[in-house]
Amino acid sequence: MSALGRGAGTRFGSGWISGVLAVVFSALAAGGVLCLRFPSLLTTPDARSYYPLGVVRFLIYACLVAGFGLGTLSVLLRRSKALGVTALLLATVATLLGGAGAEVGTTGGTAAYVGLDWFLLNVLVLALIFVPMERAFARLRAQSIFRPEWRTDLVHFAMSHLLVQVTVLLTLAPATLLFAWAVRPALQHAVQAQPLLLQFVEIVVVADLTEYVVHRVFHRVPFLWRFHEIHHSAPALDWLAASRLHLVDIVVTRGLSFVPLYLLGFTPSAVYAYLIFVSFHAVFIHANVRFRFRPIEWLVVTPRFHHWHHAAAPEAVDRNFAVHLPVIDRLFGTSYFPAGRWPEAYGLPGRSVPDGWLRQLAWPLRRGPGPVR
Ligand SMILES: [Zn+2]
Ligand SMILES: [Zn+2]
Repeated sequence: MSALGRGAGTRFGSGWISGVLAVVFSALAAGGVLCLRFPSLLTTPDARSYYPLGVVRFLIYACLVAGFGLGTLSVLLRRSKALGVTALLLATVATLLGGAGAEVGTTGGTAAYVGLDWFLLNVLVLALIFVPMERAFARLRAQSIFRPEWRTDLVHFAMSHLLVQVTVLLTLAPATLLFAWAVRPALQHAVQAQPLLLQFVEIVVVADLTEYVVHRVFHRVPFLWRFHEIHHSAPALDWLAASRLHLVDIVVTRGLSFVPLYLLGFTPSAVYAYLIFVSFHAVFIHANVRFRFRPIEWLVVTPRFHHWHHAAAPEAVDRNFAVHLPVIDRLFGTSYFPAGRWPEAYGLPGRSVPDGWLRQLAWPLRRGPGPVR
């Protein structure tokens, strides 16, 4: 029997769905209470003052009710009590720590923090958008939300958000440390004088051109491919598989893409608008959805375009590097976009990238068979 007690059946009515949902809701509630109690250690300093406390408390309350209710239902329905009991324990601990009425702890003191708030907020918002979308418009209907390796991808999602302080610092480092000398105030003023919408479009173009080059280098250089190989090892694609990225891949790609944006000095609100767009779009292009967007699929990267980047078929290998603009691949002769078709399979046939976040973190540094691509 697996850790989730799959051995006791996962069909509707077996208590598995209620059990998994109960654990998710109880964990969200417990995480929320911990953020309230220990804000200086577990929340993002820049975000703290923006949280509407009333809404946060209501969400914690709703998650606790769902956790207790679904946990009890799972215990009643299911022979294996592991899921239900875990959910009830988590919900009880969250309640004992103060529940929705937990006192807000003091801020200040420690400089280092973990972005637990950032993780909880993102997982909640993205799951609320993408889980129903993938159920309603699934490309592969038989593919479950809890497909094989979903836990590994959830840990990737969690770690990249929890370590937000480190990743942001390392993302800004190459630009600010190595290229401060190249800043030209006159150029930056001219860039900032443009309308915000124009700046947004320019950011998309500039960032994707850099990303295209960095992405292609990650595929071409064997040492770097071992890091990027983790992203391509996903055997199934959905919104969560988008998070399967080695930390080195994340930091190097973001860090280098930020350099031209830093030098051009775009207005912060245009950069924030791009960050919101990219955090949604990068997830969307991996989603298990059958949308085609035929009128604009030549203009903006769609799920079908990026799914071909992950295809196992030899003719699709090292194709479709662009993240936002397919025209870049056409310009450089790396586009593969057969009309109307979707890939038959994803991943790296014949490769043995291990399952598990920690094993994947160590994978590029392990000796083994050379990169195959
Ligand atoms: Zn790639
Ligand atoms: Zn991808």
